[in-house]
Amino acid sequence: MSKQHLGHTARKRFGQNFLHDNYVIDQIVTAIGPQKDQHMVEIGPGLGALTEPVCELVDALTVIELDRDLAARLRTHPFIASKLTIVEADALKYDFSQLLSDDKPLRIFGNLPYNISTPLMFHLFSFANKVQDMHFMLQKEVVNRLAASPGNKSYGRLSVMAQYHCQIIPVLQVPPGAFNPPPKVDSAVVRLVPHQKKPVTLINEDTLHTVCAQAFNQRRKTIRNSLKESVSEKQLIDLDINPELRAENLSLEQYAKIANAVDSLT
Ligand code: SAM
Repeated sequence: MSKQHLGHTARKRFGQNFLHDNYVIDQIVTAIGPQKDQHMVEIGPGLGALTEPVCELVDALTVIELDRDLAARLRTHPFIASKLTIVEADALKYDFSQLLSDDKPLRIFGNLPYNISTPLMFHLFSFANKVQDMHFMLQKEVVNRLAASPGNKSYGRLSVMAQYHCQIIPVLQVPPGAFNPPPKVDSAVVRLVPHQKKPVTLINEDTLHTVCAQAFNQRRKTIRNSLKESVSEKQLIDLDINPELRAENLSLEQYAKIANAVDSLT
């Protein structure tokens, strides 16, 4: 299939794979369920595949687009330009709390550029308490990682951090043919709903990050070894956690216990 779509040449460096399957687009918009009066925010509107149908349901929509040409096209869009607030920015660096002037929690969605999806998830988690929900099209593998339970081969740092911040609900799978140009991987849509009350209490969230990074960077090792810079074997035993376990066997609760123990010691 050509890299041209609606007169625009898809830019690989911006992860541009444009949705063109109306059935899939309808399913995504239905899953999002935009309502008037909600503060909807789209990341990477591109040529408007999701933006246009969402604009039919709401009076206003904020979009964040890095590609200058695409932002310019949206500014002169014949039907929806008047409803859009266009932010020309890198979503990875954008301070989403700037959008909270009307005090409404954000409903964020997008068919995300796959090359930045994991760091973007981490960036968005830092705004979780200002967000009502998020719906994203991602590489299927990333959705599997977000939703994975301990013991699953997809379970990793992203699973622990995502599940600390949000409830994760896979919504639908999308084949490469729904996009132009088609990506080389399968895709899926996921709903992330930030917890009103976090499932575990942490002294310091950053410590959970650090402990997970240490454990999963050496995921084949026992935690006795991979976490030895943070906790001793005796401390693990005192926490009722078997030091023979590997990173992928520990639950969020167990990671939280270790992180809090590290913070109590320092
Ligand atoms: N929403 C459109 C669709 O579904 O057809 C486009 C999706 S395309 C996969 C990703 C979009 O994100 C592109 O429009 C791209 O220019 C934009 N983008 C890429 N990197 C970005 C970033 N760091 N911040 C904001 N937008 C970005």
